[in-house]
Amino acid sequence: MTIATETHFEVIVIGAGVAGIYQMKRLKDMGVNATVLEACDDLGGTWYNNRYPGARFDSESYTYGYSFSQEVLDEWHWKEKFSPQSENLNYLNFVAGKFDLRQYMQFNCRVTAAHFDEGEDRWVLAIDDGRTLTCRFVIMAVGLLSTPTLPRIEGTEDFKGPSFHTFYWPHEEVDLKGKKVAVIGTGATAIQLIAEIADKVGELNVFQRRPNWSAPLNNCPISPAEMADIRARYDDIFATCARTPGSFEHEPDRRGFYEVSREERLKLWDRLYDEPGFGIWLANFREIFTDEKANEEFSEYIADRIRQRVKDPVTAEKLIPRDHGFGIQRVPMESHYFEAYNRDNVHLIDISEAPIERVTETGIRTSDQDYDADIIVYATGFDAITGAFDHIDIRGLDGQTLRGKWREGPSTFLGILINGFPNLLMPTGPQSGSASTNYPRGIENGVNWSTDLLDYSEQKGFTRLEATKEAEASWTATVTKMYAIMLMRKAKSWFTGYNSNVEGHEEGSIRYFVYNGGTPRYVASINAVAGNDYEGIAFSRKDPPTSSASAPERQIANT
Ligand code: NAP
Repeated sequence: MTIATETHFEVIVIGAGVAGIYQMKRLKDMGVNATVLEACDDLGGTWYNNRYPGARFDSESYTYGYSFSQEVLDEWHWKEKFSPQSENLNYLNFVAGKFDLRQYMQFNCRVTAAHFDEGEDRWVLAIDDGRTLTCRFVIMAVGLLSTPTLPRIEGTEDFKGPSFHTFYWPHEEVDLKGKKVAVIGTGATAIQLIAEIADKVGELNVFQRRPNWSAPLNNCPISPAEMADIRARYDDIFATCARTPGSFEHEPDRRGFYEVSREERLKLWDRLYDEPGFGIWLANFREIFTDEKANEEFSEYIADRIRQRVKDPVTAEKLIPRDHGFGIQRVPMESHYFEAYNRDNVHLIDISEAPIERVTETGIRTSDQDYDADIIVYATGFDAITGAFDHIDIRGLDGQTLRGKWREGPSTFLGILINGFPNLLMPTGPQSGSASTNYPRGIENGVNWSTDLLDYSEQKGFTRLEATKEAEASWTATVTKMYAIMLMRKAKSWFTGYNSNVEGHEEGSIRYFVYNGGTPRYVASINAVAGNDYEGIAFSRKDPPTSSASAPERQIANT
């Protein structure tokens, strides 16, 4: 039987991105009968889709790669400190090829529904090609930012030229030469894109509703000699990632913001501004995240940097955020972004002053004027974290829908399990340790823990596992409480579940998406649960039916 004709698996993994690939590797090693279902026509997730110019890591490449295989660490050469999309996709293909994982993957398979069959302790999945598959366990490796959202603007269908969301940037080359390009949005994606295409297009109109704080990525090549040094230090690098809150190499400056002089603070900021990566955000004083005054002082420092880099003072002021401080949203890292606005062919259109009224056949109409465009690019973000779940009709016990349960925001146990939805695991779910960190580090932790849980359950002969109501309530309360001290709670960003283009996710309500306790604390929490015989998880077993009568169900609750 080929994988495409098999209808029952012990485990079905949904998604063949960074998490799904590693999850499949673990299951293969355990000898579990598993498959990966992927909606796209190939593997790679984020790095398969986001092909817009400028797309690259904001994690140091060698801290983003998998840590689980010495062979992969020995054989793969990262060429840039912050590796670009095409190289990242090559890397994921290299890993999948090395461990022969493609044979377990089924592409062009979009899961439309997953219903728990209480009688059999299994999931029944509907695939958009018409098949029905069953499995004991479902593992959701659906990605945090995999459901792109278009703006709710009238007329998007009327535009005669090419238009696309950055997530769906065409696979074939887009000819930008001499073209009038309109970009809507100024988030992390747009900031990478704009800087990259500014000198390649005829004219670039950037439609900005709110500016974002941003700081230099300071990317550079990695020579073979440097790569040899990185290889020799991999153990130390991953040990550092494991002990830092964000799972990066960057460690917070543990001196008190107010304990050092202003001169000392400026010295640190000048240094960090010129260093590669997230140091400016994560190697900063911790008060930046929690103390309004400290955050304000640092934000003003960055504002001055913007003023120094943007020649036109009016444009510079428009590029400085007024409604939030630096770092309370995930910080977009840039490469000559601000200098793009010094070019004669790049124009910043402030749509907070003159809003977009509609897209027309020939471009974009604001309340002020019409802007012609040959190409419109929507860099308008994602229905983050829960969006991919909402797009599948997931039903747990008593027909309860996950969409309904999470209407006001997600509630989970450890970000991995959900009460009422047995045998469904999320190695990188909402409220897990990966959302606000260096994703693959969190992914490896989540996949390892989930795989160990499956192994435990299998060894004990259980057929059902589910987070208890109490455990879920307690975890969700912990995650919620952690927001209380963070300035981030005020942000209009996906960290608080904001998305102006999705009904119910607009400004005004917080959804508690992100675990803010940092990696070491998160890992300690999940390890404590495992070490305590999976306290907070109820296990049960259904005996196989005998020929005379169906066997009674035995409940073993471990609460
Ligand atoms: P985003 O941060 O949500 O930004 C979306 C942008 O579109 C915002 O500027 C938003 O304006 C604007 N927008 C949305 N709807 C609009 C509308 N109807 N009219 C006008 N403007 C509209 O999304 P993103 O830039 O794709 O980034 C999302 C996340 O992806 C990042 O936080 C990051 O985690 C990840 N990412 C990472 C990298 C990397 O370096 N590895 C690169 C790109 C993205 P408002 O702010 O006013 O809503």
